[in-house]
Amino acid sequence: MKAFLYKDKNRLEAKNIQKPELEKDGAIIKVSGCGLCGSDIVKLKEGLVKEGTVLGHEVVGIIKEIKTKTGFKIGDRVVLGHHVPCYNCVYCKNQNYSMCSEFKASNIIPGGFCEYIYVSERHLEDTVQKVPENLSDIQASFTEPSACCLRAIRRANIKKGDVAMVIGLGSIGLLMGQILKSFGAIVIGCDLIEERIKLAEELGFDRVYKYSSDEEISKLCRVDFQTEGVDVIFLASGSEKTIPLALKCVRNGGVICVFSSVHSSESGFSNNEIYYRDLTVFGSYSPASSDLKDALELLKHNIIKVDGLITKYSFEEINQAVADTLSNKIIKAYIKINNN
Ligand SMILES: [Zn+2]
Ligand SMILES: [Zn+2]
Repeated sequence: MKAFLYKDKNRLEAKNIQKPELEKDGAIIKVSGCGLCGSDIVKLKEGLVKEGTVLGHEVVGIIKEIKTKTGFKIGDRVVLGHHVPCYNCVYCKNQNYSMCSEFKASNIIPGGFCEYIYVSERHLEDTVQKVPENLSDIQASFTEPSACCLRAIRRANIKKGDVAMVIGLGSIGLLMGQILKSFGAIVIGCDLIEERIKLAEELGFDRVYKYSSDEEISKLCRVDFQTEGVDVIFLASGSEKTIPLALKCVRNGGVICVFSSVHSSESGFSNNEIYYRDLTVFGSYSPASSDLKDALELLKHNIIKVDGLITKYSFEEINQAVADTLSNKIIKAYIKINNN
């Protein structure tokens, strides 16, 4: 079967590889398409994976073969999470599922950017979901990224009326803002790119600022919302420059959620600022399976809108999709793999 494998920085290579077989319980899924995640882009850009790795995990596809005790059957159109936790270890008991060793080891085989994948029985039990009929494949492919945002918002204990700010309005920031609205938060967005600012406004953000300076943005938050500062800030840009901005905008006693990796030696939080200002800084990485289920419901009921976020590419155009994402030409790419 055809697959695109990691070759070197910013480049995937087409190869014919062995199609996975159903040797034990689980299912073979014919991949209809797969979203290109920000985390795939980081791995490509920084060269964080081995040559030959099949990236991609925001998969939507059709079950073609199955051996299972679950109710899934051949022909089901499904979305899934790529990892399954054990629910027994110290991490799982504290809901830090993405830290569980079984979670880390339980990937889909071989990865989303190929024609067929194998998912285990544990995946079928825990993360695979049937796609509601009213959702297109592209819309459904947003289940996993939306679930990541949902988990972060839940962990930030957002209350109705809280002033929340999303710094970085790529696809994750735009999803985050919409889900924050569904929690009753007042949502501020901040970015440099005009097109993203406009999109955030259309998607219901209460206010969107074009970044000028840390001082100016922090003043605008305080004046426009008559607050002592923002209650909760989500860092969704991948730039180390957002840390001082967040510290300027957050109120004393407020919360900062680190929601993207930063590959720069300059990144870091000021110890004393966190200490003297009674701040909470936390990271949130990957969703729990309950978030996957709830995210699909939010998509199904059109509470999360994704149509303006996506650019569709054919499988052969995947390297173009990577290049366009890296240059901020597009917000998010969906790679169409098979005609199902
Ligand atoms: Zn993802
Ligand atoms: Zn565990």
